Amino acid sequence: MKTLLFDLDNTLYAPECDLFSLIDVRINRYMQEVVGIAEGEVDGLRRQYWADYGVTLQGLIRHHGVDPDDYLHYVHDVDVATRIGPDPQLRQTLERLPQRKAVFTNGSHEHAVRVLKTLEITDCFDAIFDIRIADYIPKPHPQPYQNVLDRLDATPGDCVMIEDTEANLRTAKALGMRTVLVGGKRSGEFVDHHILAVGAIASTLSEISPNKD
Ligand SMILES: [Mg+2]
Repeated sequence: MKTLLFDLDNTLYAPECDLFSLIDVRINRYMQEVVGIAEGEVDGLRRQYWADYGVTLQGLIRHHGVDPDDYLHYVHDVDVATRIGPDPQLRQTLERLPQRKAVFTNGSHEHAVRVLKTLEITDCFDAIFDIRIADYIPKPHPQPYQNVLDRLDATPGDCVMIEDTEANLRTAKALGMRTVLVGGKRSGEFVDHHILAVGAIASTLSEISPNKD
């Protein structure tokens, strides 16, 4: 395995940090205050857009003409340091892994930079791929995975995808990547390995047999 693809939110830090709830509040506010959607319709539309497109943003682009960069800037404008802090243990773990490492997130590049900086692990990663990688089409759609592979000049067989969202691992597995579920409960056959927190990644990777490298 030459390349490790890490999801960001609720993967590189624990879901108990509850950072996403800050973003969640801002998504609702954006829909009401900027797009002008009635308060009572926000939750239903978010559920619908999640089900139809994987992220709220795609629904807002398609049905409300929202400027994606304006949206991404607004919803990620949160003080991440109120929920997460430096993680020297994770840093040590990542530093010991010889593979190339990239962040692959449905969030924005700017958000990823802020999170990595706050965790103090920025320099552990060689690249960050955000929702712009496939023109705002999110995981689990295969297109962003394909674009990430192209940018890294990697084959799926070279890669391990490390994620808290099972649907995103299903696509990774279908493309031929190895998959590691972080947190939650292992269920689908597309989950090769399950760890409770990202800190356990090193021992799991040592179990994955070297793949022609
Ligand atoms: Mg996640």
